[in-house]
Amino acid sequence: MKIICVGRNYAAHIEELDNERPKDPVLFLKPDTAILLKKQPFFIPEFSDDVHYEVEVLVKIKKIGKHINRKFAHKYYDEIGLGIDFTARDLQANLKKKGLPWEKAKAFDGAAVIGNFIPKKNFESVNNISFRLEKNDEIVQQASTALMLWKIDELIEYISKYFTLKIGDIIFTGTPSGVGKVHPEDKLTGFIEGTEVFSIKVK
Ligand code: ZN
Repeated sequence: MKIICVGRNYAAHIEELDNERPKDPVLFLKPDTAILLKKQPFFIPEFSDDVHYEVEVLVKIKKIGKHINRKFAHKYYDEIGLGIDFTARDLQANLKKKGLPWEKAKAFDGAAVIGNFIPKKNFESVNNISFRLEKNDEIVQQASTALMLWKIDELIEYISKYFTLKIGDIIFTGTPSGVGKVHPEDKLTGFIEGTEVFSIKVK
């Protein structure tokens, strides 16, 4: 399986990092080795002094597809999840400055937290799902998929122009504002509409 991540999909997050609003979605990949194993803590890697959490809504692909029209995109997933796109912000800033790829900053071991999935049918609309991240029991990120610049079905259309989507692939749909640094002993807990879907410890 592969993980396809979307960058700059919420206006307020683009502003907080002083980025330009893109004309098309920003895409990057994480390998399956980036997945943080269930019940394992996240170890801050020694090559970074500034690892940030980014909470993101996840979409699990259930059917193979290429060049998927947005009208039919809903047939390609029936589970929604929540995860963290851990980002070594110091490395990323350096790579961005030089115009180099971001993988070292975003695709390292443990950089993809994948929480429990919830059936899509439990939601009235996938374009209005609220979610939040708590750090040490305090809310640090809170948003709704209604605030996405590109909605889930548009993302599937766009991504599948470049990458064939396969069963089990996971899309990270971008983070809202409120990203920040993690410290050893932090606890990060994710919620979709009030249901806890992951809780991890930072070491
Ligand atoms: Zn992200």
